[in-house]
Amino acid sequence: MIPFDNTFATLPPQFFDRQDPVPVPAPEMVLFNDALAQTLGLDPADFPPEVLAGNRVPEGATPLAAAYAGHQFGGFSPQLGDGRALLLGEVVTPRGRFDIQLKGSGPTVFSRNGDGRATLSAALREYLISEAMAALRVPTTRALAVVKTGAEVPRDTLEPGAVLTRIAASHIRVGSFQFHYARRDTQAVNRLIDYTIARHYPSAADSPNPALSLLQQVLESQAALVAKWMQLGFIHGVMNTDNMAISGETIDYGPCAFVDTFHPDTVFSSIDRQGRYAWGRQAGIAHWNLAQFGTTLLGRIDPDPAQARKLAQETLDRFPDRFAQHYNAGFARKLGLSRPAPDLVNDLLSDMANNGVDFTLFFHRLTGFAAGGDSPRALYDTPGAFDTWAESWRAAGPDADIMRAENPVIIPRNHQVDRALKAATAGDMAPFRRLHAALATPYQDSPDKAPYQAPPTADEIIHATFCGT
Ligand code: AMP
Ligand code: MG
Repeated sequence: MIPFDNTFATLPPQFFDRQDPVPVPAPEMVLFNDALAQTLGLDPADFPPEVLAGNRVPEGATPLAAAYAGHQFGGFSPQLGDGRALLLGEVVTPRGRFDIQLKGSGPTVFSRNGDGRATLSAALREYLISEAMAALRVPTTRALAVVKTGAEVPRDTLEPGAVLTRIAASHIRVGSFQFHYARRDTQAVNRLIDYTIARHYPSAADSPNPALSLLQQVLESQAALVAKWMQLGFIHGVMNTDNMAISGETIDYGPCAFVDTFHPDTVFSSIDRQGRYAWGRQAGIAHWNLAQFGTTLLGRIDPDPAQARKLAQETLDRFPDRFAQHYNAGFARKLGLSRPAPDLVNDLLSDMANNGVDFTLFFHRLTGFAAGGDSPRALYDTPGAFDTWAESWRAAGPDADIMRAENPVIIPRNHQVDRALKAATAGDMAPFRRLHAALATPYQDSPDKAPYQAPPTADEIIHATFCGT
C-alpha cells in the first residue's frame, strides 16, 4: 500500500478540484525508476501500470487538480491550473515529504481547450531531462515512471499517448499564490503562506516577519537554482510564473534545452520569439517572477501598504547580489578556482560567444588541460584568443580536481535527445536507454560517454524545441 499522508487535499475547496483520472484503454509500463523508488522507500509493487495510468486509484489517494494562475510571457492569466495533471497525494519518505503526480491523466476543469493528455515523446523527454538534472546535482522534480496509454493523441500527427509520474517536493508555484491574490481572497493567500512555510521553509515561522522571511528564502533558492542552470548551459525555456516552484526545484520541463555552441542569447523554445527566456536572461526573469511572488505577500508583510512595499522591495533588491554570489562561485569552480574571478569568467564567456565554442565540451577539455592534457584551443575559431585568456587563468592557479566535480562529461544534447525520442516513438527504446544510462553519471569520464560528447554537426543542430504537450 502506498503510504499516503495527504495535506494539500485538506486545504479549502478553492485550492483545487477533486476528480479521478480518466481511464485509458491499455496501460503498459515503459519505464519505472527503481532507483528513485528505493531512495524514497516506495514499493514498486504498489505502482502497477493500471495505477500509473490512472485506471485504478490506489487506496489513500485523494486525486485533485490544483488551481493556479500565472504570468505567461509577461501576460497574466488568472486561471491556469492542472489541465492535464492530478496530484494523487503525498508520501513522507527518508528524504522528506513528496507529491506523487500523474501528468497526462486526462482532462480536468482547468483543461480549457487542451485534451489533458501527454505524448509518449514529451513524457520520455521530461523523464530523461529531469533525471539527468538530478544526476547533475540540480534541484529538480523527479520522474518515477512512464506508462503508455494505448490511445493516440492528436498533435501535428497522431502520437502515442503516455502518463508521466512526477515526484516533487511540492507543486506549489508562484502562480499558486497569484491565483488567490488575483481573486482578492486574502484568507486563501494567508492559508497558502502558512502551509508553504510549514512545508518548505519552517524557519520562517520563527522570524519576526514570516512572510518577508518566506520571500527572502524563496529568493535565495531561486538565485542558487538559476545560477546552477546557467553553469550547465541549461535554458528552462518557459520561465512563466506558473512554472516556478516555490520549493526551489526545477519544474515543468517543456521546451528546455542545453546550449551547444555558447551564446548568451540562445533560445530553443519555438514559442519564445522575443528571446524572453534566453540563457542570459534567466536571472532577470527569476527576479521579475519573485517580484510577482512578493506582491502576493504584501498584505502579510505589513498592514501598512507603503511599509509592506518598502520591506518587500528591500528584500527583492538583494536578488542581483545573491545571484551574482552563486553564479561567480559556481563559475569559479568550473575554472578550478576556490575564489570568485568574475573578470576571468566574463572574458571567457564573451570569447566563447565570439568564437563559436561548444559550452560543455570546452569545460570538459579545459578540465583535461588543467590536469596536463591537451589545450582546448582548437574549439575556438581564433585559437589565439584562448591562449591569451589561458595565461591569466593559469596565473590564478586552477585545480583540476575542483573542475572534475563541476564540469560534466556529457549533458543531454538536443540532437541526441531528439534521436532517442524519435526511436522510442517508433517503438525502439534502446537508444533512449543507452542515453539515459550514460546520463546517470555525468561527471564520470567512462567509455559509455563517448558517443554523446560531440556537438551536433551542421545538419544535426536542433534550432527549436516544442512545448511538447
Ligand atoms: P505549461 O506551459 O505546459 O506548463 O502549461 C500551461 C498550462 O496549460 C497549464 O495550465 C497546463 O495544465 C495547461 N496544459 C498544457 N498542456 C495541456 C493539455 N494537453 N491539456 C490540457 N491542459 C494543458
Ligand atoms: Mg506548467
